[in-house]
Amino acid sequence: MKPIVRIAPDVGWLPVSFANVYFIGRPGGKWVLVDAGPPERASEIVQAAEARFGTGSRPEAILLTHGHADHVGSALHLAEKWDVTIWAHHLELPYLTGKSPYPPADPTVGGAMAFLSRFFPARTTHLGERVRPLPQSKVPGLTGWEWIAAPGHSPGQVAFFRESDRVLLAGDAFATMDLDSWSGLPSGRQQLSRPPSPFTCDWDATRTSLQTLSKLRPHVLGCGHGIPLSDPGLPDRFEEFAVRFRPPRRGRYVREAARTDENGIVGLPPAPFDPVPFVTMGALVLVGIALGAGYFDEKRN
Ligand SMILES: [Zn+2]
Ligand SMILES: [Zn+2]
Repeated sequence: MKPIVRIAPDVGWLPVSFANVYFIGRPGGKWVLVDAGPPERASEIVQAAEARFGTGSRPEAILLTHGHADHVGSALHLAEKWDVTIWAHHLELPYLTGKSPYPPADPTVGGAMAFLSRFFPARTTHLGERVRPLPQSKVPGLTGWEWIAAPGHSPGQVAFFRESDRVLLAGDAFATMDLDSWSGLPSGRQQLSRPPSPFTCDWDATRTSLQTLSKLRPHVLGCGHGIPLSDPGLPDRFEEFAVRFRPPRRGRYVREAARTDENGIVGLPPAPFDPVPFVTMGALVLVGIALGAGYFDEKRN
């Protein structure tokens, strides 16, 4: 079992498959879970939590930074096991209660994750009565923390911030690894980077949110993807990253964002032509013809 790694005295980090979850609280005391990992990973999260907080321990709340499947996949399972409420920004609720799908992924935006996004199944999440909107100016289960709207990657994306030691848990408002790079993706090298590009539906809002978050000058930074960051140069580096931030050059949501409201999708820019499935299909057909013709059959006379 992977142990929870401490990034602040009472904040623990656990990478679950490809997405991070965070635990806030001290052993023996009350605690909350921030994000809930991909589907089918509930037992891994429970085991890690029990190793830190004690057998049978349960959190006060499950807080979501947003509702993409890699952050919410195990949420319902966990909420039912622990009998706790899941909290998310109200603009994220249509995608968590089956009212609306998320704006479709954009595989044409470029980069490693965009290419791979063609093979990710689109999932819809139904948390039913378990999910509730985050209350104004309060974070359920925590004191000393605030939630900050950071839309762009998703309409109701939020970050959680504690001013006393400047810990920022930012979800997918951005990332601490380069998900667009074929070398950055497997290596996981720490780097302030764009949020997961193919799933980001408003790039102008993403930039504005980054500028808002960078002004908090966090000392500890934990995102949904990548190893958390904490070093003396971080606040300045983060501000510079936000100032220099540029959206990708092309992509469905680069010039025009997806329009959404409290009921979900209102309007979408047209889907750009994506040649890759056709090229892949064409290659497979050619391989099929070649196999049929015995082209690869070395024993053929
Ligand atoms: Zn996301
Ligand atoms: Zn994510």
